[in-house]
Amino acid sequence: MQAISVQQPWAFAIARGGKPVSNQPVPTAYRGPLLVHASMRVDLKACDSPLVQGAGWDPRDPLATIGAVIAVAELTGVCASAARGLGVCRCGPWADDDAYHWQLGDVRPLPRPIVALGRTDLWEPTATLVAEVRAMLAAAAVPRVL
Ligand SMILES: [Zn+2]
Repeated sequence: MQAISVQQPWAFAIARGGKPVSNQPVPTAYRGPLLVHASMRVDLKACDSPLVQGAGWDPRDPLATIGAVIAVAELTGVCASAARGLGVCRCGPWADDDAYHWQLGDVRPLPRPIVALGRTDLWEPTATLVAEVRAMLAAAAVPRVL
C-alpha cells in the first residue's frame, strides 16, 4: 500500500467526482492500492473551475477536508504522453498538459476521513493507518440489518 497527497478540491474530485487521473510531476513504477490523502494546502483557484463544480464540489462534505485520508484507489497505470511532449492521450479533461497522468481505478471513498500527516509525491502509510482504512471499509461493506 502506498499513498499520495493531493490538494483539495482535486482530492475530493477523485474521491467523489469520478476524476480518473491524478496529475503528478513525476512518474512511478508502483501499481496497486493507493490511499488518497487530502493535503493541508488547498488550490483555491480550482474550486471555481467548471470541472470541479461539475464533480459536485461541496466544501461541507466531510471528504472536502484537509490533512486526512479520504479514499482508496488502485493505481493502474501512468501515462507519460503529456509530460514527455508526445501529444494527445486519452486521459480526458482532468489530465494536465505538463504532468504525468496517474490513472486511478476502483475508487472507494471512505465513510469519513482519517486524519493523517501527508508528504509530497508517493509515500508509505504507516501500518496503523492502513489497518484503520481497511477496518473502516470492511465495516462500511457490511449490509445494514433493517
Ligand atoms: Zn494521459
